Amino acid sequence: MAQAHRHHEPQGAELATVAQAALERAGEQWTTMRASVFAALAGFDRPASAYDIADSVSQAAGRRVAANSIYRILDLFVGANLARKVESANAYIVSAHPDCRHDCIFLVCDACGQTTHLDDDAITRGVRAAAASVGFAAERPVIEVRGRCAACCA
Ligand SMILES: [Zn+2]
Ligand SMILES: [Zn+2]
Repeated sequence: MAQAHRHHEPQGAELATVAQAALERAGEQWTTMRASVFAALAGFDRPASAYDIADSVSQAAGRRVAANSIYRILDLFVGANLARKVESANAYIVSAHPDCRHDCIFLVCDACGQTTHLDDDAITRGVRAAAASVGFAAERPVIEVRGRCAACCA
């Protein structure tokens, strides 16, 4: 029988604490700016673009923050597993489990943008195994399902 991957998914302030620890383990500092970007990203209930985050951080900081600096921080966050990029939306979402790196599946609603995160190791291992079977080294499987969320179907 397939085993579902289970882990604790921290929320709110606890999520920021876990994210900070993960970033510091990656040898990077949790600066005020990085903390603000993480807080802004975590404040969105759907994938946010670098521009969305720049607007939100600028408002909180009372000064204009360039989207370019936000991109650099988001890249760092993705590398350290603090954030994930939702490729089909060209936007970012906070990682639900910064201290556990594995392949995530995203369900992206075409109507409202709500993005649901699923972990199913049987599926993601299957994708990696299928790639390996044709000699392809899977480094970063992107598994996104577009459709309509339960609220939009109702
Ligand atoms: Zn996941
Ligand atoms: Zn929806």
